Amino acid sequence: VSSLLTRCRTFKVLVIGDSGVGKTCLTHRLCAGEFPRRVEATIGVDFRDRALEIDGEKIKLQLWDTAGQERFRKSMVQHYYRNVHAVLFIYDVTCPASFSGLTAWIEECRQNSLGQEIPRFLIGNKSDLRDPTRTDHQVGQDRAMSFAKAHGMIFFETSAKNPLKKRGNGHRGDGALRYQQ
Ligand code: GDP
Ligand code: MG
Repeated sequence: VSSLLTRCRTFKVLVIGDSGVGKTCLTHRLCAGEFPRRVEATIGVDFRDRALEIDGEKIKLQLWDTAGQERFRKSMVQHYYRNVHAVLFIYDVTCPASFSGLTAWIEECRQNSLGQEIPRFLIGNKSDLRDPTRTDHQVGQDRAMSFAKAHGMIFFETSAKNPLKKRGNGHRGDGALRYQQ
């Protein structure tokens, strides 16, 4: 890590959601600017940094890419939520079960973040796999948007594999997230 990175403000961002929704691929996309060819299942938590410049200020996002295994999670979970600046709740738009699974993750967040007002984001990943002819096995944007509204979250759809073209200030991977409102 360069001295430049260590000096700047760091924001801890927790990445949460069912296994297989693409948390590791998204984190990789945001931090390395590419879709990983092969990913290992995450054990416990992996850390990756992303440097950004916003309004001339250099900041660092420290992404906590977590895994759901019970035996790891129980002992780690309070560390996940300590001094966290944002939580990303990820589901897979082609897997309604991963959307239903969010309720438990939101509850975990609620229980472990008492007293903290944490910005929370709802992120439907794998939008590249959405099939307009098969709405039955997918999570619609309307449904996700009203869920986000009911829980006070900001909603995006994204693809770690084929992100939209970048809008921002030229950093690699900036197109990975799209605001859907
Ligand atoms: P995690 O368990 O939530 O960390 O999920 P991974 O990041 O390990 O991804 C699980 C699987 O989904 C892998 O086979 C990835 O290649 C695939 N995957 C992840 N994100 C995307 C995406 O945006 N689009 C597509 N098509 N596949 C994805
Ligand atoms: Mg993972």
